Amino acid sequence: MNKKLYQTVIDYINNKITSGELSIGDVIPSESQLSKRLNVSIGTVRKAIDKLENSNILFRHHGKGTYVNLNLKTMKTDYKKERSDLAAAFRWAARLNMHEAVANHFSLAVSDDGSQFLLNPIGMNFSQICASDLILLDSNDPTTMSQPNAPDPSAWAIHGAMHRNNPQARCILHVHPKYATILASLEDKTMKPIDQNTMRFYEKVSIDHDYSGMGLGKEAERLSTILGDNSVLLMGNHGVLTAAKTVAKAFDDLYYFERSCENLIGAYQTGKNLHLVSHEIATKTAQQWQDYDASDLHFDALKRILDKEEPDYKI
Ligand SMILES: [Zn+2]
Repeated sequence: MNKKLYQTVIDYINNKITSGELSIGDVIPSESQLSKRLNVSIGTVRKAIDKLENSNILFRHHGKGTYVNLNLKTMKTDYKKERSDLAAAFRWAARLNMHEAVANHFSLAVSDDGSQFLLNPIGMNFSQICASDLILLDSNDPTTMSQPNAPDPSAWAIHGAMHRNNPQARCILHVHPKYATILASLEDKTMKPIDQNTMRFYEKVSIDHDYSGMGLGKEAERLSTILGDNSVLLMGNHGVLTAAKTVAKAFDDLYYFERSCENLIGAYQTGKNLHLVSHEIATKTAQQWQDYDASDLHFDALKRILDKEEPDYKI
């Protein structure tokens, strides 16, 4: 199957929806019409429609045509940009295989004091989370866990405590990606300055050495006091958490931290001695990373891909 041709069909249908030419409930042109119009095979058209149907953008009503189906989810109008950004972070973390089953959680504060925040609902795989799926919680509301849309208990405990105790950390991403979790499992959990990526985090990671069980109750409260001014918390014997003012920055930190851990673990695996740069060079490079902040460019580029390939994340 020619990927380019099938993407042409997806783009064609998406453009019709985005421009308003096709609205919710409209029947799209038939497979043979699309095949002739775009000069592609019926098989290519079917593949494209399969993909759009999987994303809930289209719905095949057998014998009656294929409908635009964006109304399966009601577009939430509150915190639209925040919801859309956080949904994009879930989708891309899934593509990078950073998520684990239906555990792990991302949140984004929407009130000034950080007490109100968006969080993923319980039981959803990151790859299917849409903007309207995110639940709005208040960390001061004691009834949260008895409500029908109650979140995962450890998500509630960790993110509630983190937002309460770190109001500067608007976006908090917590996962157990492979290489960060390996580093968290070593006795020496420090990020050694062995390449440009690892130097980004030189002396800039808060490390927890006192794991005492799942992130609930007192453990969550304890974790929330360790971050300090850093944007990365390496949770010993557990995973990693990044915290920043925007989703783009927290995601950029998470991406580069996992890459850095991969480089470091890979270097350890060779069994050869590490070639560490000096304290001065590592410090200078870490500062250069701070001055060169391409997190918005990075995240915007990812969102452009999602806009084309899985636009339902914004719904
Ligand atoms: Zn965890």
